[in-house]
Amino acid sequence: MTSFIRADQLYKTYQVTSDIQVHALKGVSLEVAAGDFVAIMGPSGSGKSTFMNLLGCLDVPTRGSLFLEGAEISSFSQKQLAGIRNKKIGFIFQNFNLLPRTSALDNVELPILYSKENASTRYNRAAEALERVGLKDKMRNFSNQLSGGEQQRVAIARALVNTPPLILADEPTGNLDSQTSGEIMEILKNLNEDDKITIVLVTHEQDIAHYAKLRVHFRDGIIV
Ligand code: ADP
Repeated sequence: MTSFIRADQLYKTYQVTSDIQVHALKGVSLEVAAGDFVAIMGPSGSGKSTFMNLLGCLDVPTRGSLFLEGAEISSFSQKQLAGIRNKKIGFIFQNFNLLPRTSALDNVELPILYSKENASTRYNRAAEALERVGLKDKMRNFSNQLSGGEQQRVAIARALVNTPPLILADEPTGNLDSQTSGEIMEILKNLNEDDKITIVLVTHEQDIAHYAKLRVHFRDGIIV
């Protein structure tokens, strides 16, 4: 069986100036099965964001191979990477990244705004995603009229609207209190268990990492 994600000896070197290089990843290998739920942990500067950027098709490795559903994305062009990002990956961020003074519904419709879908299909898909995260009754609220936990639920709905097989979450509970964090993690856990969405999440918190099935620790650009 092919892995859902396979990283094979990934290196990432940033050329900071003509004579300064930063070796952010120094040979990272990891296999993730479809339907897995992985927590990435490790101190600041250990390479977590760099690895997530490669997984998220936002950057390419300096050396090594990265496969997503069998496709070698590490050799893809910028245009091909954009296609994968759009179709296969939902992103969730620490600070929600919603458009302010814009309704929850419009925020969730954003990723499909330029798709071939007509307006009523777009509406139905966005409303369905908001219902999935328990926010249908607030879909007309502006994002700034929602609590932090509600804003993160809108962001999860936005990540779901294209029905991606993979969700990447970067410290999704970093700005939330512990009870709200638990609610958000329950939603992610249900998406993983019921919808079989593969999830890779970065967190500093042990309690949050315990929702995952697998924990991976980065240190100095390698997995320890
Ligand atoms: P983490 O997410 O674990 O905090 P990062 O992946 O952000 O770690 O950073 C790993 C190393 O790479 C750090 O030394 C950081 O300063 C460096 N780094 C990250 N992004 C860049 C960049 N765009 N240019 C140069 N150096 C970078």
